[in-house]
Formats: sequence, structure tokens, C-alpha cells
Amino acid sequence: MICRRCSRPLTDPQSVARRYGPACWKKVRVEDERDYQDWLTEHTTITDAGAAAETLREIWKRVLAQTSDRTCSCGEPLESSDLLTFDHGDGARLKGFGQPQWVFLRCPECQHELTYGKLGAAPLDDLAPPPVPVPDTTPAPPGHQDTIVEEPDRGA
Ligand SMILES: [Zn+2]
Ligand SMILES: [Zn+2]
Repeated sequence: MICRRCSRPLTDPQSVARRYGPACWKKVRVEDERDYQDWLTEHTTITDAGAAAETLREIWKRVLAQTSDRTCSCGEPLESSDLLTFDHGDGARLKGFGQPQWVFLRCPECQHELTYGKLGAAPLDDLAPPPVPVPDTTPAPPGHQDTIVEEPDRGA
């Protein structure tokens, strides 16, 4: 077994299990984290980063509750997937996001994507932000005239 990043042989069992030597493991984790944040920034409308992170943590808990012992078709454990969302009209309304979000897992190994809805995990309805008060759009009573903006009196 060799390190996937630098191709040096791996000896210690932990490194073999994660397929990276200790130094490379640290680097890929940092790179992954940065890619992950970039992805979210690019594809999602986040209105409150703190609330969005909290929402994603909660969704991840629900994912984990469903994915123990489950693997991607490539053999990678589902638990090592990235949890990603993007703006999508049919998605779930989620706290911290300005648009409904399509939630899915992406396998880091084969890039296979698995929609949250197909996991059989708990629905996300309770993670919706509180409803925004609907603005009063009652039509003006009949006979009402639109306000005419008069030219300001320029004086004599
Ligand atoms: Zn390495
Ligand atoms: Zn996979």
C-alpha cells in the first residue's frame, strides 16, 4: 500500500486504513476543507453562515444515523462522503440559506452523488426558517387614485 498523495509506502496500520501518510493526511484534510467551503460559497445562497453551518451539522447527524454500515457502490463508506447542498427550486427550505437547498452526499472516491431523500433519513422540514411575514398586498379600494406626483413648486 502506498500513500495516494506522495506514493511513498505506508507501514503503520492507521495510515494504511486512510491511505495517506500522516503528513499527507493533514494536507488533504486542509485541502478538502477548503474545496468544500469553496463549493458551498459557489453553489449556495447563504444568508447567515453561522446558522447554515448549524443546519449542515444537524443534517449530517441525520445522515450518520442512516449510513452506518452502508457503503457507496465503489466500496467507500458513506460516512466519508461530503455533505453538499445547492440552490434548487424543489429543495428544502433551510435555516441560514437564502434559497431552498438540494441536499446530497458526494463520494470522495468515485464522485457518485446520492440525494438526501434517497437515504431514508429524517425529513428536513423542521430545519426550515420561521415563515417570513407576508407583505400586505390588499388591493386599494375602488375609486382610489394613484398618487400623482406633482412637479414641485419652483416658486416665483
Ligand atoms: Zn504521502
Ligand atoms: Zn463511491
